[in-house]
Amino acid sequence: MALSDITARIDAAAQAHGRTPEDITLIAVSKVQPPERVEAVLDQGHRIFGENRVQEAQGRWPEFQARFDGIDLHLIGPLQTNKARQAVEMFSTIHTLDRPKLATTLARLAQERGASPEVFVQVNTGEEPQKAGCLPSDADAFIAEVRVLDLPLKGLMCIPPVEEEPSLHFALLAKIAARNGLTGLSMGMSSDFENAIAQGATHIRVGSAIFGERTA
Ligand SMILES: *Cc1c(COP(=O)(O)O)cnc(C)c1O
Repeated sequence: MALSDITARIDAAAQAHGRTPEDITLIAVSKVQPPERVEAVLDQGHRIFGENRVQEAQGRWPEFQARFDGIDLHLIGPLQTNKARQAVEMFSTIHTLDRPKLATTLARLAQERGASPEVFVQVNTGEEPQKAGCLPSDADAFIAEVRVLDLPLKGLMCIPPVEEEPSLHFALLAKIAARNGLTGLSMGMSSDFENAIAQGATHIRVGSAIFGERTA
């Protein structure tokens, strides 16, 4: 599907729910996609991309950054503490802050560099054992901890369980954000971004609907 089709769908969903399309950031998730597909989206003028691995991003983006201005990279995959330094150098935003050790590491790097990426706290709304994210019951305490560390906290992020109705997870995330005074909501992917917009998403992460199915 063309990028313009996706933006038209975002506009329509925003309109339908009394929201402003400008308040919804489209992150084009380019992980594993062949470079020619990524370049095609850059050629159409899009500049905000999501990657789920630091190493993969380091391998492909410097070349594009030399050729295209204003590229804005978001990390949407789990971050190991030992990759944090590379991550803060490459990404404007980290969507997967989910544990105290990573928060203190990011805070230390922010001190050192005098700058920090914006962060989203990832919440494991489905409480899936294999999935990253803090548990919903731990979220308030962890958010408070992130604030004490003075990290630029934008909001919350979730990835609903594949077999469940995503609305319930989006609603839970929105509820946790509201009671903590957070407005950023990173939620919604190719199959459910309109639904996420209906529930207040400010950042949607769309991969296959823009680039086509991932082959790797
Ligand atoms: C891959 C990925 C996406 C994009 O998924 P699509 O279904 O291709 O839109 C969004 N968010 C995260 C965290 C991902 O890993």
